[in-house]
Amino acid sequence: MTDAKSYQAREKEFLFETYPKRDVVISRGRGATLWDIDGREYIDCAAGVGVANVGHANPAVVKAISEQAATLITCPNIFYSEVRADLLKLLAEVTPAGLNRAFLCNSGAEAIEGAMKFARLTTGRTDFVACMRGFHGRTMGAVSATFNKKYRQPFEPLVPGFGFVPLNNIDKLDAAVTDQTAAVMIELVQGEGGVRPANAEFVAAARRITQERGALLLVDEIQTGFCRTGKFFACEHHDLEPDIMTLAKAIAGGVPMGAIMVTDQISDAMGQHGTTFGGNPLACAAATAAIEFMQTEQLARRAAELGDYFETRLKQELPARIKEIRRLGLMIGLELTDKVQPHLVKLIEHGVLALPAGPTVLRLLPPLVITEAEIDRVVDAVCEVLSEAAA
Ligand SMILES: *Cc1c(COP(=O)(O)O)cnc(C)c1O
Repeated sequence: MTDAKSYQAREKEFLFETYPKRDVVISRGRGATLWDIDGREYIDCAAGVGVANVGHANPAVVKAISEQAATLITCPNIFYSEVRADLLKLLAEVTPAGLNRAFLCNSGAEAIEGAMKFARLTTGRTDFVACMRGFHGRTMGAVSATFNKKYRQPFEPLVPGFGFVPLNNIDKLDAAVTDQTAAVMIELVQGEGGVRPANAEFVAAARRITQERGALLLVDEIQTGFCRTGKFFACEHHDLEPDIMTLAKAIAGGVPMGAIMVTDQISDAMGQHGTTFGGNPLACAAATAAIEFMQTEQLARRAAELGDYFETRLKQELPARIKEIRRLGLMIGLELTDKVQPHLVKLIEHGVLALPAGPTVLRLLPPLVITEAEIDRVVDAVCEVLSEAAA
């Protein structure tokens, strides 16, 4: 057996399986490139599912992690920490106005869980309104806010009090928000749900309706945040100031971390919520390095420009299989006329790793440090694969 086959067999034997796997053993990364165990090169348009915005093995992040690891890895939240203090200040600076305090945690789902608790504590209300096709994570609270039956149904009964409205349907939203609604939860571009942007009217209505009825607006920027959509946060496309914002994925250059950003209006939860690992020095150092890199390299502007470049290049050859291009910055969804899965397998053979977003959407979330030449190679591979006759 080759090394690749033996590692695959070992994972198959010992892993508790939750994901269908592709036949690649990834060993190493740099920028937008990954190498497998046999030295084959791939352009990574999965980026750890929208995690590696600053690129794999980003030197600034590597340096910060290495130095912090040799200094202090863990420090509980009952003490102060220099690196945590620095990150908290930076997060308040880069996020929309009003979001000046953060609860630091370890993942997206955990950020959603905490956000739900904070919303109930602050409002004294129990209910939530979320969007159809929305995705907020896999833990019991987060999955209760997630629309797809496949994720929800096997685990019922879930957290009660959730209603769902179609994205961009203002009348349905208006009808759903009651005097028992603690928060309206939205993604500004639905990620797992198929790369579907909320429109400006809907976002403005969500802000207005929540304000009028004493409910909070919770914006989930776990996938859209940190320059992905061509702004530091997708909120900036709408001049939106939410009450709560959840962050994770790209926040710490690949190190697991989540954050809940809140306004001063959100009540403290002294002794009522907590975390062991959240805000540990290692993750904080990584996050500060990643965010400073995004600032100095102007990754938001880069994502906007490279996203335009990608779309222009793609439209020059546009395969007939692409029904619609949905995109904001380098968050790209290609709605296909047929199932995406076989095309993802073929793309691997062409040296491109990509993602699905539902059964018929090809999703590309490349590192934002990707070059134009690499985008050319991605477009060529996508066009070649999508132009092939059906198997
Ligand atoms: C990925 C994702 C989550 C869940 O994050 P995990 O870190 O996997 O728990 C929640 N919301 C959105 C919008 C996401 O894309």
